[in-house]
Amino acid sequence: LSDRLTETFRNLRTKGKLSPADVDGTVREIRRALLDADVALVVVKDFTSRVRERALGDEVSKALNPAQQVVQIVNEELVAILGGQQRRLEFAKTPPTVIMLAGLQGSGKTTFAGKLARMLEKDGHTPLLVAADLQRPNAVNQLQVVAERAGAAIFAPQPGNGVGDPVRVSKDGVEYARQKQYDTVIIDTAGRLGVDAELMKQAADIRKATNPDEVLFVIDAMIGQDAVSTAKAFQDGVDFTGVVLSKLDGDARGGAALSVASVTGRPIIFASNGEGLDDVEAFHPDRMASRILDLGDILTLIEQAQQTFDEAEAMKVAEKLASETFTLEDFLEQMQQMKKMGSMKKMLGMLPGMGGMKDQLDNFDEREIDRTEAIIRSMTVVERRNPKVLNGSRRLRIARGSGMTVTDVNQLVQRFDQAAKMMKTVAKGGMPNIPGMGPV
Ligand code: GDP
Ligand code: MG
Repeated sequence: LSDRLTETFRNLRTKGKLSPADVDGTVREIRRALLDADVALVVVKDFTSRVRERALGDEVSKALNPAQQVVQIVNEELVAILGGQQRRLEFAKTPPTVIMLAGLQGSGKTTFAGKLARMLEKDGHTPLLVAADLQRPNAVNQLQVVAERAGAAIFAPQPGNGVGDPVRVSKDGVEYARQKQYDTVIIDTAGRLGVDAELMKQAADIRKATNPDEVLFVIDAMIGQDAVSTAKAFQDGVDFTGVVLSKLDGDARGGAALSVASVTGRPIIFASNGEGLDDVEAFHPDRMASRILDLGDILTLIEQAQQTFDEAEAMKVAEKLASETFTLEDFLEQMQQMKKMGSMKKMLGMLPGMGGMKDQLDNFDEREIDRTEAIIRSMTVVERRNPKVLNGSRRLRIARGSGMTVTDVNQLVQRFDQAAKMMKTVAKGGMPNIPGMGPV
């Protein structure tokens, strides 16, 4: 199915003008891809109608490349729902910063508590873990093990010290942190397998008693269509300031991210992706957008290519070619544009179905550009503008001046000739065939 979507975008990208039927077809595929990624139906409907509206509007019909514009709209809308900018944890002006975790049983709260403690320690903080899950017999033990692995301190109820009262333990934990000068407190709370009024009230009471700077709702990315109702229940019952998406290392395509972010309007702050203590990272809306559409980073890639080699620039080159004034200076400039896309090669490794493009770029060596630059800089203006004058003695002089061999210079001239020829053929069709710009 995702292959079909890739195909749809690919077809779009080779088209000039888009008809309403093109737009409808694309929107239908996007809708399928989102449902396939387990994005909740209400969210999908809302999303696709917004994309459709924009895709049929002026910004697309007036765009130089309407297809690319549609792809960009999809990306923009996804990223916007997912929170736009990356959001960081908020810290209290006066320590300790209190961070409370809430979520269903098994969602990954305790595991994340350890990960968070570790991250905070790495940043120079002194976290204290508070064991406020007194529901399951083994929960306190589990947090103890996690704390030990993370090398973090723990506040756990002792017999006679509030056993059975998670609100009291939480409150005491914060007070303990204040006295012992821990600068952050992570409260691990209880959850049940389903939404449960009693436990919801307990979490709300803990929130009231400890007045946390952050309440993080931890949700299993595999939850699927239940994401919306679960997130809403926690928002109504406890409310939260941010979301942690766990178990992203599984098969989940991350549809839950879109659902939760969309219906609660709360930012996703962390992505948890494994059972190990270090399997966690800051959440990146743009990466998740790509994952949801299963297009690897192709959207980012298109955007990047567009930024570095903008169309006006490309048109200028095309015009020059048409009037046969494409010079080595233009060639150099063009290669430098490509160099700006430097990270592209690395990114391509992550892309599904991008074999052809990757091969193209594998032949593309950044150091090659530096050598090219050295050679062209050793040429006179006349030579750069009219490479035909490059006879043997000129080539020798240039080789010496640039610290290269005559063979290097010959190869460069040859490549320039090829590029000029190749570009001239496509110039008639409009755009030169720069990787990432033309049809893949
Ligand atoms: P809690 O009930 O919310 O505290 O959830 P736990 O932290 O105890 O996690 C429940 C189960 O999910 C445990 O077996 C964890 O090892 C596992 N788990 C938690 N986070 C992740 C994750 O990011 N990836 C994977 N694969 N497993 C996880
Ligand atoms: Mg737990």
